Amino acid sequence: MEIESSLPPSTPTPLLALDPAAAAARFVELGLKPFHAKIARKEVLERGITDYAQMTALPSAARERLSAELPILSGTELERRVAFDRTTKLLISFPGGPRPATVETVHIPARDSASGKGATLCVSTQVGCPVACPFCASGRAGLVRNLEVHEIVEQYVRGRALGALSRSVVMGIGEPLLNYANVSKALDVVHDEMGLGSRKVTLSTVGFPERLRRIAPDKPRFQLAISLHTPDQEQRDVLVPAMKGVPIEEVLSAGDDWFAQTGREITYEYVLLAGENDSAGHAERLAQRLARRRCTVNLIPFNPVDDSGFGRPTEFSVQRFHQTLVEHGIIATVRWSRGLESDAACGQLRIRKQA
Ligand code: SF4
Repeated sequence: MEIESSLPPSTPTPLLALDPAAAAARFVELGLKPFHAKIARKEVLERGITDYAQMTALPSAARERLSAELPILSGTELERRVAFDRTTKLLISFPGGPRPATVETVHIPARDSASGKGATLCVSTQVGCPVACPFCASGRAGLVRNLEVHEIVEQYVRGRALGALSRSVVMGIGEPLLNYANVSKALDVVHDEMGLGSRKVTLSTVGFPERLRRIAPDKPRFQLAISLHTPDQEQRDVLVPAMKGVPIEEVLSAGDDWFAQTGREITYEYVLLAGENDSAGHAERLAQRLARRRCTVNLIPFNPVDDSGFGRPTEFSVQRFHQTLVEHGIIATVRWSRGLESDAACGQLRIRKQA
């Protein structure tokens, strides 16, 4: 049985879209042994091998048969951008659906990867995004479709092929809680078969309270980050349109419940937009909102998107914001974008390719 598929009928089902039992059955159909399926799946998921010819644990006749009959992946790499710091952004196209289904996956080597620390992989969960944040290239064209389980896993496989992974952030294109069933199954594969521990994976959401409360008891295999972007209700209604009318206190309270149930502290993400939400007053009000909450704030100076109308904050305002939070006893970090010259902001490469 196939796990699920949005593939058009003429497209062969790839190995990654088959669960272990279905893969074994397909291998038997091809005249191979069920354990060959297990070997092939392991080679793909554990070692990032995407060419049967390199799977030396399989008999050579099997490798030839599989190469002809059973693709491993369904996507196509349309473009690859490598920045000066070796941050690599892949633009991947998947078949099926009403419009071109392209997403971005970013492989970010650790600064000291020479010592073998591995890389962080940023993956997408939807094609386009229905949240429609005005500063984000991914939200501009709206949602095309959800990614299937195997399409999310494929991003990990492609990322693994670029170098060992030590962390992952589910922070690319899309809102993961709006495709949670598929995201959750994909993260099970990443955890169980690719060996990325649950504390090494961070899922980033705009924080739908009811959805958070529903999934907390499921022992989710990830850390949670909630994108807040402002302490002011009126401004959040504009910056995060899909959350319009959802009180910020309700989001924070769902975060508190999450922490109480999972024991995992939340990171609040805050994109600093020049002249919009980067003032000392914003920092003060954010500190008041988060007072007595065990959490971390991750400040992200905005990476300019063409004609978005938003600008990059000055280093002074970033430092002032950070310092204000620290003075209120809040743990805060600043995440400067890596690979700025390579369409680094989420969704920029995808938008340019479609333009
Ligand atoms: S910032 Fe995130 S939630 Fe907002 S539109 Fe972009 S991908 Fe969606």
